[in-house]
Amino acid sequence: MNDAEKKVMEIIDAGRDDLIRIASDLIAVPSVSGKPGAGKYYEQMADYLDGEFAKIGIKGEKLSLPPGGTNFIASLQGCGHGRTLAMGGHYDVVPADEPEWETDPFKAEIRNGCLFGRGAADMKGGLAVCFMTMKALAECGVSLQGDVQFIASVDEETGGPYGIDYIAATGKCVPDMFINAEQTEMKIVTAFKGCAWLRVKVRGRSAHGGRPETGVNAVVKAAEIIRMLGSLDGREITYKRDPFLNGFSMNISCISGGQAVNAVPDECSFTVDCRFVPGQDYNEVINVIRGKIAEMSAADPDLDAEVEIISRCTNAVRFPADAELVEVLSQSIREATGHDGEQCGFLAAGDNGVFHRQGIPALVFGPGSPAVIHKANEYCNIDDMVEAAKIYALAAMRICGAGQKV
Ligand SMILES: [Zn+2]
Repeated sequence: MNDAEKKVMEIIDAGRDDLIRIASDLIAVPSVSGKPGAGKYYEQMADYLDGEFAKIGIKGEKLSLPPGGTNFIASLQGCGHGRTLAMGGHYDVVPADEPEWETDPFKAEIRNGCLFGRGAADMKGGLAVCFMTMKALAECGVSLQGDVQFIASVDEETGGPYGIDYIAATGKCVPDMFINAEQTEMKIVTAFKGCAWLRVKVRGRSAHGGRPETGVNAVVKAAEIIRMLGSLDGREITYKRDPFLNGFSMNISCISGGQAVNAVPDECSFTVDCRFVPGQDYNEVINVIRGKIAEMSAADPDLDAEVEIISRCTNAVRFPADAELVEVLSQSIREATGHDGEQCGFLAAGDNGVFHRQGIPALVFGPGSPAVIHKANEYCNIDDMVEAAKIYALAAMRICGAGQKV
């Protein structure tokens, strides 16, 4: 670590209370995704961050797409000769209605070195860490070559169009690399499953329930297709098991059909959640499923079904072991903590998909554990938050390029 890097580490250590304050202030805003009135709280989040960034001389900008939400970005400008590293995540949270909460979910509380509250780990703690990183970089007396950008988006928890997709569409966030501060227990997520959601619609022919032989039962036909999907094996859908992501999976998730207990149902539909591993092509897998259903229809003229794609489909993403962002993060972890960073995989790309689709290396690394989120008594370890800020700062200085301020 050089002198400038050591200085940044000192600023972050000294800023521990400030980091806790920012995270606590963010937790205090009930920015619950999908709740009526959420827009008002998103606005409040953006205003709060704008005020905090203004205090450290960084200009922020709200990116609003009515009626769904207000996102926020801010940029620590370099001198224009280096690469841009973006960091951040989402500031919407899931509801906190569980009766098991031992603290007020929207009033952060410290217990045993951990910050408790809704969003502590998912992911207002991570956003506070990104803010602290930029504060330390802004105050350390080092001039960066490239920019460090802060991104905070809405609509992640409900998967709507008002968040990261909108930010990307504005063209105001096209970094060279991105670190998502979602909770990973301080492991680097270098592999992401691909995903496709399908709806299979089965048509039958209605008839009186007392004379089922005169109709075609869509629910029974759907059951035959579900059984067929469950029997597909490695010969039909080929893949190589991934050390972080395991294998390909398919989950039959929702089903609906039929109108009355005494009628033969003429319609039934069900949804399928497919998750892919590296090396698989989602088109090929969907074609296998369509082909198998076509084979069934050919053998049974009463079986009439179609497969509809109801999500954006993505292939899995896996970073090579020597990818620069992985190496820089690993080295930063080693220097800030004294131990090697572990790598792991995620079940989906989430908000990182936006960057992957543009060919921008985007990893996830952050404090907090996935095991404590979306339930009562969510928390984030404060020591991990401080360490994460140090790691982000070291990574930023190396990716953006740092020199002494003149
Ligand atoms: Zn999250």
